[in-house]
Amino acid sequence: MEAKKVKVLCKNCGEEMSIDFNQAQFSTALQIIDGKKHQSRTYMEKCPHCETINTVTSEDKMEWGKRKGPNVKFIMFSGLFSCLTVILLVIVAMYFAFKGFQFVMDWLLNS
Ligand SMILES: [Zn+2]
Repeated sequence: MEAKKVKVLCKNCGEEMSIDFNQAQFSTALQIIDGKKHQSRTYMEKCPHCETINTVTSEDKMEWGKRKGPNVKFIMFSGLFSCLTVILLVIVAMYFAFKGFQFVMDWLLNS
C-alpha cells in the first residue's frame, strides 16, 4: 500500500503545499455508525511558507500507507466500554429476573 500525498492550499497564505500521509503527524478518530466502525485520520502538516498547520482528513484506509495509528488506547477504551455495556446488561437482566422472581413468589403465595 502506498501512502497518499495530498495537495492542499494553505488556509492562511493560499500557497499550495502537499501533505504526505507517510510523514505527516496524524490523529485517529473512530466512530461506530450502525454497528460499523468508521475510522478516519486527520493529517497535520505545517505550511512551508508561513508555518500554519493545515489538516486533511481521510477515511480511506488505502491512502494511509503502512503506518500504524495510535489505536491501542482506543481499543482499550472500547474494550472497557463494551465491558461496561455487558455489566449494564447483566444488571438489567438481573433486575428483570428478580422482578420476575418476585412476581412468581407473589403469585405462589397469594393463590
Ligand atoms: Zn501558508
